[in-house]
Amino acid sequence: MNLSCPVCQHSLDVEEDRYRCAICDRFFAMQAICPDCHQPLQVLKACGAVDYFCVNGHGLISKKRVEFSPLLESL
Ligand SMILES: [Zn+2]
Ligand SMILES: [Zn+2]
Repeated sequence: MNLSCPVCQHSLDVEEDRYRCAICDRFFAMQAICPDCHQPLQVLKACGAVDYFCVNGHGLISKKRVEFSPLLESL
């Protein structure tokens, strides 16, 4: 996974469950995206496992198929 900063296009570092741009010194949340409709997925956390659910009719999405995009965290 090699994502670039939406602000400056520098490649983002992964820090635990979020991204960091060393140039902007900003953090970005990992937004899970449905590979079929490209809408944000609902993240369901249960017993240490994480499931991704598409509310647009695609149901549970396997983690291998989930697309992630950086989402600027509000300050
Ligand atoms: Zn940046
Ligand atoms: Zn979907």
